[in-house]
Amino acid sequence: MANVVVVGAQWGDEGKGKIVDWLSNRADVVARFQGGHNAGHTLVVGGTVYKLSLMPSGVVQGKLSLLGNGVVVDPWAFLDEVERVRGQGVDVTPDLVKVAETAALILPVHRDLDALRENRDDGMKIGTTRRGIGPAYEDKVGRRAVRVIDLADEKGLRARVADLLHHHNALRRGFGETEYSADELVAALLEIAPKILPFAAPVWKLLDAAMAEDKKVLFEGAQGAFLDVDHGTYPFVTSSNTVSGQAAAGTGVGPGKVGYVLGIVKAYTTRVGEGPFPTELTDETGRRIGEKGHEFGTVTSRQRRCGWFDAVLVRQSAKINGLNGIALTKLDVLDGFEELKVCTGYMLDGQPLDRLPASTADQARIEPVYETFEGWTGSTAGARSWADLPAEAVKYVRRIEELIETPVALLSTSPERDDVILMQDPFKT
Ligand code: IMP
Repeated sequence: MANVVVVGAQWGDEGKGKIVDWLSNRADVVARFQGGHNAGHTLVVGGTVYKLSLMPSGVVQGKLSLLGNGVVVDPWAFLDEVERVRGQGVDVTPDLVKVAETAALILPVHRDLDALRENRDDGMKIGTTRRGIGPAYEDKVGRRAVRVIDLADEKGLRARVADLLHHHNALRRGFGETEYSADELVAALLEIAPKILPFAAPVWKLLDAAMAEDKKVLFEGAQGAFLDVDHGTYPFVTSSNTVSGQAAAGTGVGPGKVGYVLGIVKAYTTRVGEGPFPTELTDETGRRIGEKGHEFGTVTSRQRRCGWFDAVLVRQSAKINGLNGIALTKLDVLDGFEELKVCTGYMLDGQPLDRLPASTADQARIEPVYETFEGWTGSTAGARSWADLPAEAVKYVRRIEELIETPVALLSTSPERDDVILMQDPFKT
């Protein structure tokens, strides 16, 4: 099976962009299957920095780039990104980028609702990216979304918008907001329809054809396993399934077609937004990791919370994703630390626990159990072979593999595309 799915194995921001970019080189097609422009991927290619949100990372390399039905698409953000990436010299055309006809749209009412909820002060703030992601998915499962294909039929679009606003205007009245005009929303959508529709396509069929020709497909996940709406630290999660199983449903291929599952894992842990984080470091060490790792969000510029590597979390992630291997990123950020810690278990009410408990209250209460490692004085930055790594760094990585019961397939040692140590090529396994 020549296909690969890449998923974040922690809380997102594991460095997926670089690995996906590296793998895109070896793929023919790159497909996103969930999330929207809440994702932020930074790619550094030949010294040029590309910041992508909605576009699959393969676009920079001119690979057929698909947005599957599981993605929620803000059509204005999509067009802005097309223009931005074009401005950097990438020829983004409707031949290169395709959007599923059945993908649900993110509309201004969704952004408004996201912000209205986030602005409240009842302690239930999620810390979302305020891009309207959650409200758009709610409308999708509520069967009142406007989908890409609706832009092709004015009469049908009017009916969809009327249905959607029937729901949203009731909410807006409740929040003391002005109601949305259906005519204005329809007019705004009809204005951009001619720009969006050339990108619309039956993505499932394109994938079927590509696979029939033995083309290599890379499924690109966004966010991470513990932001998954079912498996994550609910309610502090995103509103889609981020685990590998979604690659199939979110693009329209059978589960047997997804192939090798690669989890992206950062050599420590970070999280943006609210929610439990057992190994969080609120001290000087946490600040030092954040500074060295440039831990600021690509999308919202928010400072990321930092902490030690949590092997319990990543082992759980390996199980729920069915990871075949991991790409370990940002090991170089740990260069120069005298001592490092890895969480190997939790304690809850005096009892050992080998998994993240399901209840939010317990997740906040658990105490991590740590194993301590000697740090390394040498540098791992830019290493391209195992032999270039200090012995202590090798020991750290080997112990992580053991604890998470998953091998390291790739080790990334700097933001540059080629600074990678390859142990196992996911496309050839
Ligand atoms: P939403 O996806 O904007 O609804 O945000 C829900 C939660 O997911 C918040 O904690 C966000 O910080 C988090 N989140 C969403 N997208 C990303 C991402 O790409 N990286 C990391 N966290 C994310």
